[in-house]
Amino acid sequence: MHDTSRLSRSQRRRVGVSFEFFPPKTADMERSLWEAIERLAPLDPTFVSVTYGAGGSTRERTHATVARIVRETDVKPAAHLTCVAATREEIDDVVRAYWAAGVRHIVALRGDPTGGIGTQYAAHPGGYATSTDLVRGVKEIGDFEVSVSAYPEKHPESASFDQDIDALKAKIDAGATRAITQFFFENDIYFRYLDRVRKAGVTIPILPGLVAVQNFKQTAGFARKTGASVPQWLADRFEGLDDDPATRRLIAAAVAAEQALDLMDRGVTDFHFYTMNRADLVYATCHLLGVRGKVPVGL
Ligand code: FAD
Repeated sequence: MHDTSRLSRSQRRRVGVSFEFFPPKTADMERSLWEAIERLAPLDPTFVSVTYGAGGSTRERTHATVARIVRETDVKPAAHLTCVAATREEIDDVVRAYWAAGVRHIVALRGDPTGGIGTQYAAHPGGYATSTDLVRGVKEIGDFEVSVSAYPEKHPESASFDQDIDALKAKIDAGATRAITQFFFENDIYFRYLDRVRKAGVTIPILPGLVAVQNFKQTAGFARKTGASVPQWLADRFEGLDDDPATRRLIAAAVAAEQALDLMDRGVTDFHFYTMNRADLVYATCHLLGVRGKVPVGL
């Protein structure tokens, strides 16, 4: 059945989208990343962000990807940055290099323990101790826009929701003006979290992070590590499709559409997509939300 009220709502409201990419490791990955950026850039995203890894080579790949976005597109990049395995001076140098390259938006994170998710986090002795310190350090270097993470199911290391939300508030007090959530599959989880943070006095935008499920097993495994729950109904939808990528893609598109449209129906106007460096599913979801590409000049 065709829901005309939904269509008219999406047309009336300006929907904002942002896209997250990860830095490519190989020439093939680089090609598919750029195909994705070129397809999604005309949707006029509020920003596109590039994730950051702890090792030296991934650090350079993030910088190279962000610098190329600045040079070759007119979308606004946001560079992710973590406190892991680096001194404060080294991180400050990266921040200065971003400023010099024309980047004005940093996504400031603590990062995961070097021993892997689930092991004890230990701050680098000469580095930033927490994401809050990093936010403060970035703001001291330049007038960056700073986004931070938020956890609708709380960060696995937080003892309670109160502690988790206190950490978010500390990041905001240090200068963060936007939070992007860990991905979630049940929209009620996001709205319950939104209620909690608003009651705690948080007023900044909390962008829902939506993951495009390309490979259910992989996504479910990653979710378990990061403390994001995977509902049984979702597992059921992908059941028996391990060797059927074409049907999996259709199911993934249906799941993404259902989630995004429900968020929109419930008042959400800004969406952050974990693209996994692929455009099709995200592009289709944005289209459903009423987001259209810029009309090429001359038409
Ligand atoms: P934080 O806000 O730092 O919280 C981590 C824990 O520390 C929580 O338990 C919190 O309660 C506690 N805490 C925070 N501040 C304080 C404080 N001042 N005092 C005491 N306790 C405190 N990882 C990467 O390696 N690279 C990326 O590019 C990347 N991008 C991400 C983007 C998003 C949107 C999200 C949601 C996560 C991303 N991550 C990335 C993962 C992230 O680094 C991990 O989840 C990490 O374990 C926590 O870092 P954080 O900044 O998200 O959390």
